[in-house]
Amino acid sequence: MDNRPREIVVISGKGGTGKTSISASLAYLSQDCIVADCDVDAADLYLLLKPISIERQDFYSGHIAEINQEKCAGCGICKDLCRFDAIKANNNAKFSVEPSSCEGCKVCVEFCPEKAIDFPERLCGEWMKSETRVGFMVHAKLGIAAENSGKLVALIRSEAKKLAQEKDKKLIIIDGPPGIGCPVIASITGATDVLVVTEPTLSGIHDLERVLSLANHFRIKPYICINKFDLNLDMSEKIESVAKELGAKVIGKIRYDKLVTKAQIEAKTIVESNIPSAQDIIDMWERLKVN
Ligand code: SF4
Ligand code: SF4
Repeated sequence: MDNRPREIVVISGKGGTGKTSISASLAYLSQDCIVADCDVDAADLYLLLKPISIERQDFYSGHIAEINQEKCAGCGICKDLCRFDAIKANNNAKFSVEPSSCEGCKVCVEFCPEKAIDFPERLCGEWMKSETRVGFMVHAKLGIAAENSGKLVALIRSEAKKLAQEKDKKLIIIDGPPGIGCPVIASITGATDVLVVTEPTLSGIHDLERVLSLANHFRIKPYICINKFDLNLDMSEKIESVAKELGAKVIGKIRYDKLVTKAQIEAKTIVESNIPSAQDIIDMWERLKVN
């Protein structure tokens, strides 16, 4: 028997479709899950769930060159060799590395005649385990200009799974990254379900096709939620037929609701706010539970 917790990853072809508000609402309705924010490049689930951190850890990924000013003889060989123009001359006739430009290729380290260049791991951000009013949450803060968000997404998922096991939770709800790039792949690989949030626009259909082909490629059960479906009923119908063609199920249709913004300003999930669209999310949740 498969004892893995169910892992529902909420994704979208692009940002701004309401993915985070929907993830937070589903977690609120569950009240018995681990919630994880894997949209690490623009993490904002914390704004709605107000987590209180119980554990923090640094996130290191890759390496960075650092010139030891005591040892540097100022020959400039490293600057000439750096293809990324990351090494600058200082006023004191020595050199230093601009961290945001260093790609960690190690060429300067290898060729410095004085062995003056260190190559430590790069601190890219931090990740946290927290408590929220909907349950435990795993989330992260990626440093400015830090890369390797796919690696951080994989780490967050792995910690969420460990926490689910520790707390005996059968469900993990993940706010995934938008798009179809490396962080999205890291967020859905091996997951049980994806919930694709889309909007009734032409670009929404295009994005949906891209995301569904990705889910199909990884053989993950795809569900679709059409957010603000009533803004363009023709387009919503088209989305339903595209979904059918691609073997996905439209599991929720959420009406346009101008009170969503008010709920966000009050840092409440949609379902806590008892606004008209809350019922659409509750209906979708009921269907998701039994599918
Ligand atoms: S190659 Fe080494 S010694 Fe020469 S400037 Fe660079 S760090 Fe200094
Ligand atoms: S590690 Fe590579 S990118 Fe970074 S400073 Fe050295 S040569 Fe440039």
